Amino acid sequence: MGRKLVRDHVPGLEEKDLAIAGTIEMRRLFRAKLLEEYEEWLQAVDEGNDSGMVEELADLYELVFGMTAYCGQSMQEVTTHALAKMESHGGFYDRIVWTKAADKLGSKVLSPLTLDAVAAEAIRAHYKHAASGGSFLDPGLTVTQRLAALMEEVGEVGRELTYDNTQDNNKLVKELIHVANVALTWVEFLEGGGRPELFVYQGGGS
Ligand SMILES: [Mg+2]
Repeated sequence: MGRKLVRDHVPGLEEKDLAIAGTIEMRRLFRAKLLEEYEEWLQAVDEGNDSGMVEELADLYELVFGMTAYCGQSMQEVTTHALAKMESHGGFYDRIVWTKAADKLGSKVLSPLTLDAVAAEAIRAHYKHAASGGSFLDPGLTVTQRLAALMEEVGEVGRELTYDNTQDNNKLVKELIHVANVALTWVEFLEGGGRPELFVYQGGGS
């Protein structure tokens, strides 16, 4: 269970289970939905499912309409740009690959291994603290609790660098990941994420 973007008139969804997203939340919702539809398209391609593939492309197509409206632009504008670029640069039909492309930072600025380590720490910490109501995945955690936890973890980093310093990089990395866990789970919560459903099973938290 969680928040995900759906079409405006999906039959069978209960009114009480629906909410209206804010402007900032829409950004992450669009991103998640794009990735979801892309994965569905890829699966249809892998299965050789031609009608399914067209269906997923239609979903992606509709997302382009939605994102255009989100920016207050018209599809006519998008089409004009698309045609002009097609004329000057061509499309994506000939499988041309440029082999000297610079690595763009973008989402790759942090390695997936680092991000995975933070996610793994979030899960580990959740199972350790959920029962006592202190999981960072709990949307009910107060700002004061989050700040206190963050300061404590920052303190642990400081301790690794000062009198208890064992010159152990692994320990320092571990403590920095703890800091990242508290910070990133806080960001998730502020951005409309958080995983309240985890607490249905844990019986802890808010
Ligand atoms: Mg789809």
